[in-house]
Amino acid sequence: MPPRSKTPFSRLLRRAFYAFVATGLLSFATLGVYSWDREKTDTRENLSIFSGFLASATQAYFDDLGHGLDPLGQLLQNIDVTNNPEAARPYLLKFQARYPQIRAMAVFNTDGRMLINTASKPGTPLPDFRRTPKYLEPFKAALEDSALYTVGQPEYGQVIHEWRFPFRYTMRDDQGQALFLIQAAIPLETGMYFMRNPSLPPGSIVGLLREDGFQQARWPIDDPNKVYLKRLNGPLIKKIQANPSQQTGYFSGYSPLMFTEQERLGTYNHLATLPMYAYVSVPYNYIWYKWWKQNSPVLGIFLLFIAVFGSIAFWVRIHERLHSEELLHQARSDPLTALPNRTGIEELLENQIDASKHSGRTFSIMYFDLDRFKDINDSLGHGIGDQLLIEVGKRAKGVLRRDDILARLGGDEFLIILPDSTMNAGTNSAQRIIDAFEAPFILAQQRLKMSCSIGIAGYPDHGLDRETLLKHADTAMYEAKRLGGSGFSCYEAGLGKRLQQRLSLQSRMHDALVNQQFQLHYQPIVDLRSGRIIAVEALLRWREANGVSHSPAEFIPIAEESGLILPLGEWVLKTACAQAKEWLDLGFELCISVNLSTRQFQDLDLTEKVTTVLNDCALPPACLELEITESAAMLDAETTVAVLGVLKRIGVRIAIDDFGTGYSSLSHLKRIPADTIKIDKSFVDGVSEESDDRAIVHTILALAHALDKHTVAEGIETEAQKQALEDAGCDWGQGYLFSRPVPADEFLALLETMYHAPQKIENMK
Ligand code: C2E
Ligand code: MG
Ligand code: MG
Repeated sequence: MPPRSKTPFSRLLRRAFYAFVATGLLSFATLGVYSWDREKTDTRENLSIFSGFLASATQAYFDDLGHGLDPLGQLLQNIDVTNNPEAARPYLLKFQARYPQIRAMAVFNTDGRMLINTASKPGTPLPDFRRTPKYLEPFKAALEDSALYTVGQPEYGQVIHEWRFPFRYTMRDDQGQALFLIQAAIPLETGMYFMRNPSLPPGSIVGLLREDGFQQARWPIDDPNKVYLKRLNGPLIKKIQANPSQQTGYFSGYSPLMFTEQERLGTYNHLATLPMYAYVSVPYNYIWYKWWKQNSPVLGIFLLFIAVFGSIAFWVRIHERLHSEELLHQARSDPLTALPNRTGIEELLENQIDASKHSGRTFSIMYFDLDRFKDINDSLGHGIGDQLLIEVGKRAKGVLRRDDILARLGGDEFLIILPDSTMNAGTNSAQRIIDAFEAPFILAQQRLKMSCSIGIAGYPDHGLDRETLLKHADTAMYEAKRLGGSGFSCYEAGLGKRLQQRLSLQSRMHDALVNQQFQLHYQPIVDLRSGRIIAVEALLRWREANGVSHSPAEFIPIAEESGLILPLGEWVLKTACAQAKEWLDLGFELCISVNLSTRQFQDLDLTEKVTTVLNDCALPPACLELEITESAAMLDAETTVAVLGVLKRIGVRIAIDDFGTGYSSLSHLKRIPADTIKIDKSFVDGVSEESDDRAIVHTILALAHALDKHTVAEGIETEAQKQALEDAGCDWGQGYLFSRPVPADEFLALLETMYHAPQKIENMK
């Protein structure tokens, strides 16, 4: 089968689909990039607002605490806290109660000795940090710092046993000399409560970063040691170090010390007075998440469109393909018989040739054609003709192998491919088909006896390509037809040439008829006893312009094959009757014999044509004898009897020519209304000797007389033959002994001498 071709519509649809997908993807990509950018900007702006708020809130929070410690310092100085630390406890606790984020309050001497700690009960020994530089150094730095308060780095509180950072206030005298230091311990977990903003996106990190690179506070946190004890080196620190003067900004990247190692986006703001930055960051996932939330409906709709469009395109494509396959199938099959048609079988034949080329196996093809199908169509109508073709297809298929392919080429021509078969197998199949035609076809209550002619050609012997194989099978089929039909013929070299010669002869005959190159010769039929002419046989002659003469035995069968015999036979009939009338007018009352070919005999208009010719020539019907061969007479018994009956009623005489050469059925012969039996020359040849021929001639004569028919012996060449026939009781004779067939003028000369008394004719009537 040929490759499935796409229809223009499905091609268009496919392109539209691709264009839709491409445009969709492009739009979606553009929209995606744009909205990603927007989401990032939005997130950055929101974070920036939050980090700004955080910076000012933290500054305010610390300032509030710092300003609160100022009056407390005055109070503690008044009660001389340095010498009466326990007296300060109620004030410290009161202050602590006002600021719930403070876990403990402590007062230190300027040398770093802890005087009181609200987290320790009165009288409990207090820890002494003076020999611990880790504690003492920031403490001293705070004492020296001129700011209202200082915020220390987070550390683990020895007294309160939790992570906290120290908020320190130094009380000074009027000269600015440090008197003592009040320290508030702010636990990280609870102290920086405002950093826990529940409305922040999941995964957010909020924090305070000191300018020295340490964290002041962060939320959330999993391991304080990891976060508070090391200087951070993430993207924020890098950004700040690169731009120390920048008060606000954003950062992005991976933070190895963050509890998640995701890429993040964040913003930061410097606190108004404190050396710290407030920052907030979110993982990029969050932006993706927002982006996805924003774009997924669009993507969903787009995918839905693709799915719907794709489904429609697919559906259309499938239907188009089914439709085009259906059309292709229709284009390759014969609507009447449902067999492959010419196009179909030619493709299959090509495939078979390809397959055989590869496998090296032989196969054969058979061209088969019904004999006289045209007559069925003409006489019984095309409806019956069509039914017959269907039945023929079924019958042929019934005797073929499963793999054999039967196709109808058109009209009454069929072709069969016999894969993997030899010529021998081909002839067996052909014979089976011919045998299958033995039984008549019964259509519309009519029994139709059909036969077929089959031509066989084999691959590779008779052709390597489709055209050659088909041509040779066709040639072989013509040969089978030429041999009389109802048989098969295998292609052989030279057959084509012979066919060509026949075809050329056919066309030349056609021209000859137009150019009146045909001629009639006349051979007398004489009364054996008197030797007088009592009848004449018209015999057709053809001499071409180049002088080549052809015998009727050569060209009549070809004229029959081509159908030319019908106009040619009509011409013979007219010419012979006109000639007979001419002689009649001259006083020679002769019966003229005209040969009818089988094909003419089957012509449905035969009787009408005969009547017309007789009328046109004004020849009495009794002066015309139509000769049909024995085999033609036996072809279709019913029809023969009917046609001859009509001819008889017209008054025309009937002769059975070449009697003895066919396979006559005696019972049938009895029913044929023939007047004359012409004994074939092959029996006459040996009639004068003691031979089988002689016995046969005697039998024919006895039979003819018993059936009350006249007898004419054909081809009498010797006196002995004439004598033997006369003695045997044969009525009339015809042969070179009396005269060869001669042109009309010469025949007239014969008549002058050999014409007999007219009463003889009377006897013949
Ligand atoms: P046929 O009808 O049996 O004609 C007799 C044939 O025997 C003629 O051959 C004739 O020339 C030949 N013949 C007659 N006497 C002798 C003889 O003594 N010795 C020999 N050797 N032959 C003799 P022709 O003319 O060659 O015709 C051959 C056949 O062609 C005819 O056989 C007839 O069947 C057919 N034919 C001739 N003319 C026509 C025609 O107009 N129409 C049709 N359908 N067939 C024709
Ligand atoms: Mg004859
Ligand atoms: Mg004959």
